[in-house]
Amino acid sequence: MKVLSVASEAVPLAKTGGLADVVGALPAALKPLGVAMRVLLPGYPAVIGAARKAKKLRQYAELFGGPASIVGFEAAGLDLLVLDAPHLYDRPGGPYGPAGGGDWPDNWRRYAALGNAAADIAAGALGVWRPDVLHAHDWQAAMAPAYLRYGPAEGRVPSVMTVHNLAFQGQFAASIFPELGLPAEAMALDGVEYYGGVGFLKAGLQSASAITTVSPTYAQEIRTPAFGMGLDGLLNLRAADVFGVTNGIDVEVWNPAADTALASTFTPATLRKRETNRRAVEERFGISETDGPLACVISRLTWQKGMDLLSAEFDRLIGAGLRLAILGSGDTALQGALLAAAARHRGRAGVVIGYDEGLSHLMQGGCDAILVPSRFEPCGLTQLYGLRYGCVPVVARTGGLADTVIDANEAALSLGVATGIVFAPDSGEALVDAARRTAILFADRKAWTAMQKQGMRCDVSWERSAAKYANLYNALVTKGT
Ligand code: ADP
Repeated sequence: MKVLSVASEAVPLAKTGGLADVVGALPAALKPLGVAMRVLLPGYPAVIGAARKAKKLRQYAELFGGPASIVGFEAAGLDLLVLDAPHLYDRPGGPYGPAGGGDWPDNWRRYAALGNAAADIAAGALGVWRPDVLHAHDWQAAMAPAYLRYGPAEGRVPSVMTVHNLAFQGQFAASIFPELGLPAEAMALDGVEYYGGVGFLKAGLQSASAITTVSPTYAQEIRTPAFGMGLDGLLNLRAADVFGVTNGIDVEVWNPAADTALASTFTPATLRKRETNRRAVEERFGISETDGPLACVISRLTWQKGMDLLSAEFDRLIGAGLRLAILGSGDTALQGALLAAAARHRGRAGVVIGYDEGLSHLMQGGCDAILVPSRFEPCGLTQLYGLRYGCVPVVARTGGLADTVIDANEAALSLGVATGIVFAPDSGEALVDAARRTAILFADRKAWTAMQKQGMRCDVSWERSAAKYANLYNALVTKGT
């Protein structure tokens, strides 16, 4: 089984979010299942810079405004195909815009080109290698299934469209349509047309053979008006082709028994060694008080993540008995509000603004709980790291959070299967109530330790998720286009 994975980011070459983790981890997870996955990425400077012994596999005299080529090489354990198009990708800054923020104005062209090249490869343009399935991730790759669908029938292979976050859709003005090189009939309700403009993700969802998203609950939620972001109608029409596959994590990178970012490594049998890490976190965040559970937050500071609720309820969370260590960056108003709140509770709460991978490991390895009060969460990774590190997840009941944490209700506690605390999303009251439950459970050392160990037993690796993708590819190939 040969699969072409198409995306705008992959660890460790380009990353702005969880998408990159998934795209970077899937090939290795699929390999033992007989799936050979090549990853098509845009030729950003960091990607081109990683090229060793690159082979030019396809040349375009002109692709969306300039010459381009597809080159193949291996880097960071990935079998890469790279769209080298300097006029589109050879720029400083992030993948999507300049260093100061914002988007490149020609992103539609940059990612239409990516989709176009992907469909070209799927149709056999490389000669030597042609995939059996094309797998596109998020709006940046979503034009690939559309180009396949409107291309020559003999060039079609089955395609999968994966949604990592429906909030990002790639919507553009109708005026770009003539430049996409699609037949006129594609500018229609069942094509790329979206609210009078062109919708890249919409086009992918409409054109792909199957649609997946990164947890079963989010797969249900996106079919409702509250979570569908305007696409719930389409997703309902395609309900039979929509699947949820929960993300895994890299259990080598996130391994408490061998994590060099920790002050002390530990296993379920040596959980007491976490205390060394807890002390290091307390020191880093200026937390001197020692009573009550030390809860952490590691997050983008945004409305989606419920960080406004955290800020609004800060005093009551402390009142409920929590100590709080917060690492995050994002919305400047939220940054200020959280810093001010922590200053009101000096010695009991601390905030570090910034992105710090090493500190995030230490917090997972030292804090008692991780708080994730998201309003929506396609999958979520921090609760999975929490499970693996004995940092008990306290999460809103939404998306992947609902799928991966077992609430410590009476039944779950009596059976010994509880792994965390789950509360109603989008409610300050429910968040504070969850904090109270956390403090009460924490005081019962035996129950708390049992919950930590149960969490650490959860399989959060890619193994099961990869098998689901492999089954889906096989089913699509059997069914044909
Ligand atoms: P999203 O992709 O929506 O931001 P996820 O939970 O899927 O949310 O993934 C977030 C990733 O980014 C996790 O790996 C988390 O540890 C990491 N992260 C978020 N904020 C920070 C931060 N300030 N410092 C370090 N890591 C962070």
